[in-house]
Amino acid sequence: MKRKILTIKNLSKRYHDKTDEIKALDNISFDVYEKEFIAIVGPSGCGKSTILSILSELEKKSSGTTSKNKDLTIGYMLQNDSLFFWRTIYDNCLIGLEITDKLTKENKQYVLDLLKTYGLYEFKDKYPSSLSGGMRQRVALIRTLAIKPDILLLDEPMSALDYQSRLAISDDIYKIIKNEGKTAIMVTHDIAEAISMSDRIIVLTKRPARVKTIYEINLTNKSTPINNRKCKEFSTYYDTIWRDLDVHI
Ligand code: ADP
Ligand code: MG
Repeated sequence: MKRKILTIKNLSKRYHDKTDEIKALDNISFDVYEKEFIAIVGPSGCGKSTILSILSELEKKSSGTTSKNKDLTIGYMLQNDSLFFWRTIYDNCLIGLEITDKLTKENKQYVLDLLKTYGLYEFKDKYPSSLSGGMRQRVALIRTLAIKPDILLLDEPMSALDYQSRLAISDDIYKIIKNEGKTAIMVTHDIAEAISMSDRIIVLTKRPARVKTIYEINLTNKSTPINNRKCKEFSTYYDTIWRDLDVHI
């Protein structure tokens, strides 16, 4: 039996400014299991990032509950890589540890090990501007992993990349997450990306986001995201989810 590690129940969110109220989330409920890879898909502006912001406690919910085992920590990888251009790759990876006051010798070594394992060690003293977009995304992921979170929240991690790089980096990111034994919740508006990477897909309606359907993705000969695109069930999932997003919004 897989262990349930996060429960989201009847989560709603309204944003307020001086004159308006924007309802972003309407009664969102789903569970997350250990080491599961979940994708959240939905139309632009429906409330996807809001879910991650609430889970990471950057935003307050209006109602509902989010409960997780209190020992579990969450790491949030924002939509653009947001690396600091004046810091080296290594120093960028240490930011989370600095902020959380965990800059121990051990943790610094862990970062160096991650950089080595994922092909970035030789770039550790370089600055972000000298790296490709894909490499910068890997650095951003390593920076998030540095604090050893149990659950990773990824907000459209590949959206700033060209198609070719997206495919390559989705394989990289997937492998890193699986190797490190993490649970992941990834927001994307790319249906193919979601099917190729995840165990379950949560499809949201347009704003205010409600859960439209939850799909369990079962692919024959499931392997890496690039190869998963060739599985025979892929196009059926694609068409079904496409219709979900297209017709009912
Ligand atoms: P998505 O990630 O699906 O594109 P978001 O969660 O970013 O959507 O936003 C959902 C809705 O809430 C949008 O209409 C957006 O303009 C609005 N919104 C997001 N953040 C704020 C905020 N801080 N203040 C007011 N409105 C916001
Ligand atoms: Mg967003």
